[in-house]
Amino acid sequence: MEQDWIRQLPKTDLHCHLDGSMDPNTVFTLLKETGFTIDGDQLEKELMVSEDCESLEEYLKRFDLPLRCLQTEAGLKQAAFDLLKNAATENVKYLEVRFAPMSSALKGLGCKQIIESVLRGIQAAEQQWDIKASVIVCAMRHYSKAQNEQMLYCAREYLGEGVCALDLAGDEGAFPTKDFRELFQLAKRLDMPFTIHSGECGSILNVEEAINLGAKRLGHGIALSKDSNLMKQCRDKRIGIELCPTSNFQTKAVTAWEEYPLRQFLKEGLLATVNTDNRTVSNTTITKELTKLKENMGITEDEIRRLLINSIEISFAADDIKHSLIGEMGS
Ligand SMILES: [Zn+2]
Repeated sequence: MEQDWIRQLPKTDLHCHLDGSMDPNTVFTLLKETGFTIDGDQLEKELMVSEDCESLEEYLKRFDLPLRCLQTEAGLKQAAFDLLKNAATENVKYLEVRFAPMSSALKGLGCKQIIESVLRGIQAAEQQWDIKASVIVCAMRHYSKAQNEQMLYCAREYLGEGVCALDLAGDEGAFPTKDFRELFQLAKRLDMPFTIHSGECGSILNVEEAINLGAKRLGHGIALSKDSNLMKQCRDKRIGIELCPTSNFQTKAVTAWEEYPLRQFLKEGLLATVNTDNRTVSNTTITKELTKLKENMGITEDEIRRLLINSIEISFAADDIKHSLIGEMGS
């Protein structure tokens, strides 16, 4: 019953990785085209983490097969198309899909071809279903400065034309955010807004750095709950927090619901939101995430509406889209 109510609400998903959200049937078909066959049950194990996922490392292994499928224009287009189609079935009205363009350049595709393929998939889906989407391009922590900067220059040409922002993803522990100051200074000069994966598994320094660099949003931001001064800064600067509950438990960013900072963030007046991170890897949807929060933390209908409105407010969508999303929430 609750799930029905949540399913029917107009929703958004602002933190959703393309490679971690591929439809298993598409992965199966695309792998087969490359001559790689795998049976359905085994494929499921390769794509999804189990309930007892041990670590972030185990979690990250689930991206190997999807990335093999994202090396062609057809694969990229189909992945984006499927994602919107699947999200539309749970009444997601607006989705920001993120991916690292240069992770799709392993077999010779250029950055423009990669971005345009994803945009074509989005456009085709937008014509068929009542959903809108934009792309957040991810720089990767383990990529060279030149690779990340070249990607940023390329993606900037599509800002407002399908691309809405920059992100930084990858291993936060091994490659701290302070090493990327120049990249984000360049993003600022180019007027490219950005979110940064920050404080997913513990580092408050990365959260502080992201705030100082001018991030509009923090990916996960779990560590923020340890620092009241930084929480105040986030509130005053209206920095959005992209929480992804199922993923946060699977990667061991948190281990108990009592520690989950969602309600604390809401009480502090922060613009906290709920997102999927990886729909396939975590076997989740926005409906499942909100239902889980209701069952485990007892979040109320008012809190759910607050989270959804926060999500519209902090999205990188154009103002006209934000207004129409807010309008749909009220109806
Ligand atoms: Zn993420």
